[in-house]
Amino acid sequence: LRTAARSHASEPAVTVDGVTVAVGANIGDVGDARAAAANGADLAGLVRTEFLFQDRATAPGVDEQVAVYRRIAEALGGRRVTLRTLDAGSDKPVPYLPAPAEANPFLGVRGLRLSLLHPDVFADQLLAVVRVAREAPVSLMFPMVTTVDELRRARLLLDEAVARDGAGRPPDLRVGMMVEVPAAALRAADFVPYADFLSVGTNDLTQYTLAAERGNAALASLASGLDPAVERLVGEVCRAAGDRVPVAVCGELAADERAVPRLLAAGVRQLSVAPALVPLVKQTVRCVEVPR
Ligand code: PEP
Ligand code: MG
Repeated sequence: LRTAARSHASEPAVTVDGVTVAVGANIGDVGDARAAAANGADLAGLVRTEFLFQDRATAPGVDEQVAVYRRIAEALGGRRVTLRTLDAGSDKPVPYLPAPAEANPFLGVRGLRLSLLHPDVFADQLLAVVRVAREAPVSLMFPMVTTVDELRRARLLLDEAVARDGAGRPPDLRVGMMVEVPAAALRAADFVPYADFLSVGTNDLTQYTLAAERGNAALASLASGLDPAVERLVGEVCRAAGDRVPVAVCGELAADERAVPRLLAAGVRQLSVAPALVPLVKQTVRCVEVPR
């Protein structure tokens, strides 16, 4: 399987019955972007921009962010780049973005909640994304969205960034959200009018659904993305999305060969995984028949 996977890595992943599935890579820096291209990824389904913000005393400026996002886009050679806005918080603290002390950081001010608390830093990131979206196919994705109001507020700030840039909305810019909070999965239909795509983050969705911290070794068997409760939520997201917006999965579950047939049966048409796993996931997809 591995040899077959390698030699077909750059070909599209098409199921036995002819359904094309985009297999992307999750990227944490420019080196990952190169690895994604080398492994035949169809796109970057998730760029974790945290690497640009951590281990420093002040936020990166607009120009610095544009330069790094541009290098990622260049390394991907024209493939779509899904830039996720900063997903920091008390569990991944950033010194210049203070949040209140929290007893339960995973339930605290993280992801989009933190960005909305610091609109100046958020505005610079949105402006950088808008600028790069003029040069390359870019999707913008918000993490840890819980309510429709949060998504609408984020979109208003994006509109402000477009106005600040002054050159109109980049025509190819798509705007979507991660579905990684059970409340968002259950209410997916309410988000659809405000999203061009939904991407299920099964790492966090699993921990929040099963009330089992994702890094806690003692709970590893409980915190399984294969749990029927998680599967039901993914199914709900796909049902709500219908033919209106595409649904991706970018959590680790997307690389699990037991999960892939179920995700495709539910209606997922994009998977995003670690760069090195792209060839194997493509090969897994090629062995699946999607029930209709
Ligand atoms: C997820 O939660 O599934 C996800 C992809 O995001 P992260 O692992 O960066 O929290
Ligand atoms: Mg997450």
